[in-house]
Amino acid sequence: MSDGDACLARKALTLHEILCDAYGAPFPYFQSLDPLSELVSTMLNHRTRNRDAKAAFQALRDAFPTWEEVRDAPVADVQASIAPATWPEAKAPKVQAALRAITERAGRLSLDFLGGMPADEARAWLEAMDGVGPKTSAAVLSFSTLRGRALPVDSHHHRVAQRVGLVGPKVGVGPSHAILEGFLPDAWDAQAVYDHHQAFMRHGQKVCHWRGPDCAGCVVAELCDARQGRRAVPAVTAVPLPLFDRPGAG
Ligand code: SF4
Repeated sequence: MSDGDACLARKALTLHEILCDAYGAPFPYFQSLDPLSELVSTMLNHRTRNRDAKAAFQALRDAFPTWEEVRDAPVADVQASIAPATWPEAKAPKVQAALRAITERAGRLSLDFLGGMPADEARAWLEAMDGVGPKTSAAVLSFSTLRGRALPVDSHHHRVAQRVGLVGPKVGVGPSHAILEGFLPDAWDAQAVYDHHQAFMRHGQKVCHWRGPDCAGCVVAELCDARQGRRAVPAVTAVPLPLFDRPGAG
């Protein structure tokens, strides 16, 4: 690790401590789906409000009691059942393609076997499928009953990380996963990594909004490059600024 990266890693840990303290870590896991269900849930959640994604997932489960039935159903029926999610016409064939790919590669329609693999191998297995990137693979490992050690980065987390200066303004959500996870100590367990994501995400949701971040009330303002004018970007003011992110990005 270069001196610059070591400095950023120390900064990430300081931010972690402050934000975890501010938002009350350790954070409880918000759901307990098996890894295959978590994969489908994450696919439905893409650029969809949580409430609508949950409604789509529940409707899908109600219409098709098993994942085999979802896989083998007419795509129009799957599309109709996930109508509450955004772009059901695109997500229905993607979900079915993922279910077919898992069946073909694993020999059965389950992802429970990922629990017996190291996290990086499990993520690589998932990311070998079309349409599965680092955010989805991390979500499957971390949020599912696998409770694996992986750092998901959503649009809120990404926005905060960019503004404070942990990742550059041109680094997208996908590439930011490896950078941000690389700052975390190897000794951290899955809960600590999950807490890191949750703390940054909550800060993005509650304080560091896309428009009009509340910098005056921010507990990490002194460490924030955007606030302190340490970046080649406009300093954050009370005036809403589209700093680096777009709504729903990631
Ligand atoms: S100081 Fe402002 S821009 Fe920086 S993290 Fe806090 S709320 Fe976000």
